[in-house]
Amino acid sequence: MKKTLYLKFVLAYFIFGVFGFIIVTTFVPSMTREHLIREKAESLYYEATLIGNTYASGLYTNETSLETVKTQLDSLAVYLNSVIRIINPSGRLVLDTNTPIDVENVVVIENFDPTITSGSYYTIGDFFGSFNTDVLTVLAPITSNYMVKGYVAIHCDMQDIEESCNSLLNISYITLVILFLLSLIILIFFTEIVYIPLRKITHATEQYAAGNMHYEFQVDSEDEIGYLAACLNYMASEIARSEDDQKKFVANVSHDFRSPLTSIRGYLEAMKDGTISPDMYDKYLTIVLNETERLTKLTNSLLTLNNLNTKGMLLDRTDFDINQVIRSTAASFEGTCRRKNIAIEMVLTGDIMYVNADMGKIQQVLYNLLDNAIKFSHQNSIIKIETAEKKNKLFVSVKDTGIGIPKEDLKLIWDRFYKSDLSRGKDKKGTGLGLSIVKEIINAHGEHINVISTPGEGSEFIFSLPNSSKNDEED
Ligand code: ADP
Repeated sequence: MKKTLYLKFVLAYFIFGVFGFIIVTTFVPSMTREHLIREKAESLYYEATLIGNTYASGLYTNETSLETVKTQLDSLAVYLNSVIRIINPSGRLVLDTNTPIDVENVVVIENFDPTITSGSYYTIGDFFGSFNTDVLTVLAPITSNYMVKGYVAIHCDMQDIEESCNSLLNISYITLVILFLLSLIILIFFTEIVYIPLRKITHATEQYAAGNMHYEFQVDSEDEIGYLAACLNYMASEIARSEDDQKKFVANVSHDFRSPLTSIRGYLEAMKDGTISPDMYDKYLTIVLNETERLTKLTNSLLTLNNLNTKGMLLDRTDFDINQVIRSTAASFEGTCRRKNIAIEMVLTGDIMYVNADMGKIQQVLYNLLDNAIKFSHQNSIIKIETAEKKNKLFVSVKDTGIGIPKEDLKLIWDRFYKSDLSRGKDKKGTGLGLSIVKEIINAHGEHINVISTPGEGSEFIFSLPNSSKNDEED
């Protein structure tokens, strides 16, 4: 199967050769022969007319003697490599450059008919049986006093014309062979530029189809095939990466589900077999409840992420007041803040600030960011939510003075299931999914989110949102 493309190309190459050969051996010879005959006939006819108007007409007006004309025509016949004749309308041969003058023996061309050239100025044949081989004959009338006195006939052996035709054809055949050999270059180019890279690509796709996504191959060309190979390589590496991610994801999910389940099961078994006495039930049931809460949170986050991915994130964009959403999200953390004695300070642009986005999803973003800010803040601290308008965008910042994020973790916090070592002690319920959700939502809006953080000093998350045109209408 692999060789068919190459075979097809070789076949096309030979078809090209065969057709070239057929054309050169059929059309070209007949065209060349036709052309040579016409050219020869034209020049001979010109000569015949010239003779008819000069020497021959002098013969009929008795201005020139037969001998003189014969001498002149003899040398012309040698020059033209032909036979020149002067023939009377009755067919009597007046003069023939092939035979000496013989007035005694009158030679008559039987059935002589001057209309033999019929419409053309030449004819091919044995000229009324007067030649043994085929000759090309041109016939020009000799006129005097508006009367046809005779004809000048010039005969040229067809053999001569065939010979020059053959030598011309030989040149065509040699050219054809050279062209055919030269076109081998195309075959070599095809092999080098198309066939070999294509074989590499086919081999690579076979490897990918067999599941070896880490197979790498190299095609060093900057044309479409090189581009195709590079794209294929890239596609395979992306699939390989996403496969690895998938495996990591499943491993993380299993791990995160297993630990709370193990602890729930452990406590419940201990209660059942009496290891935990009924008076301690309250304490352990609270732990079990917390663990189930963690499982619910994990499941919800996974579902959210899954929905974001599978739907290609369909956004339900509306114009809404971001200030209102910030206030209500902050209010939902009131209880938690009171317990840790954390104050949320809001510095918002204007009373009402419309943005064009998916309200539910932005609410989720704010919720996740505030949740983290509170989780990683110390007791008695302040969290600042600030908005700023710049070039048709609204920037929202959530800033805390908590534990901060180490520099090496800054890039990783957006990855699914990532939790920095620093946070593990502070936040046992964290899933490591919150910031992945935040990033996916903001990116789906075509916007960006950034983090500035110093360990021990705090973190600031800033994201942008498109301003709504409703703000201008309100103005
Ligand atoms: P989690 O549910 O564990 O908070 P996230 O994806 O929201 O998951 O956060 C990932 C990690 O990023 C956290 O475990 C924590 O290490 C770090 N992080 C996020 N927000 C903050 C913050 N405000 N201060 C310090 N660290 C943070």
